[in-house]
Amino acid sequence: MHSRRMPPSSHVRAVVVDALADALGVVFPTWCAGCAEPDVSLCGACRSELAFRGLTRRLGRMPVTSAVAFEGPAARMIRAFKEEGRTALARTLGPLLASAAVGYGDAVVVPVPSSASAMRRRGYPTAELLARRGGLQPVRLLSGTGAPADQRGLGRTDRERNVAGTLRARGCAGARVVIVDDVVTTGATLREAARALEAAGACVIGAATVATTLRPGHGDGDAIRLAQRLASRQ
Ligand SMILES: [Zn+2]
Repeated sequence: MHSRRMPPSSHVRAVVVDALADALGVVFPTWCAGCAEPDVSLCGACRSELAFRGLTRRLGRMPVTSAVAFEGPAARMIRAFKEEGRTALARTLGPLLASAAVGYGDAVVVPVPSSASAMRRRGYPTAELLARRGGLQPVRLLSGTGAPADQRGLGRTDRERNVAGTLRARGCAGARVVIVDDVVTTGATLREAARALEAAGACVIGAATVATTLRPGHGDGDAIRLAQRLASRQ
């Protein structure tokens, strides 16, 4: 882990991200993000549901490791983190992401960037914040191209087509990288991230996420739709 270095400008931005996240966190009232029990940010029962499971699937040649399934308290927590401004949850979700990334050794950790509109709405980059709270050292090698990628209501094929060309990478020729994100659903975003990184000369050894919707069609349809809606708003 110690071999990952950030340029000074990234460090300054990271400090700003941390400060902003902490400032946002204190203005929201407290109830369990997993089950709404009052006066506790995460109750014991929900915390126990967050045990690392290490769920791996493949997107083409790329292995994707996820800490937990996107269901139950984990899904509600991720939603609260992404859409309700509960940034303090990154201290719980971040270590899950780091656990999912452990198997990729000392690869450079590259977060999927939040879109400009998501940044305006939330004020913080979700994948990067999770990585930092997990003790990783994310490096901003990916950025948006400005192309629209509204994924709402699209099936897998349409999502892949819609997201193609929305990311670009630079400064990563020859680097071994692991892509990190909050949730993997169809994998369209991770595939686009891998495409952009490889086009810039990186070697993508895998991806890690906090949660996965695993086996669409066999799982919880509501959870999958929720995850797709959240993903569409990145
Ligand atoms: Zn709870």
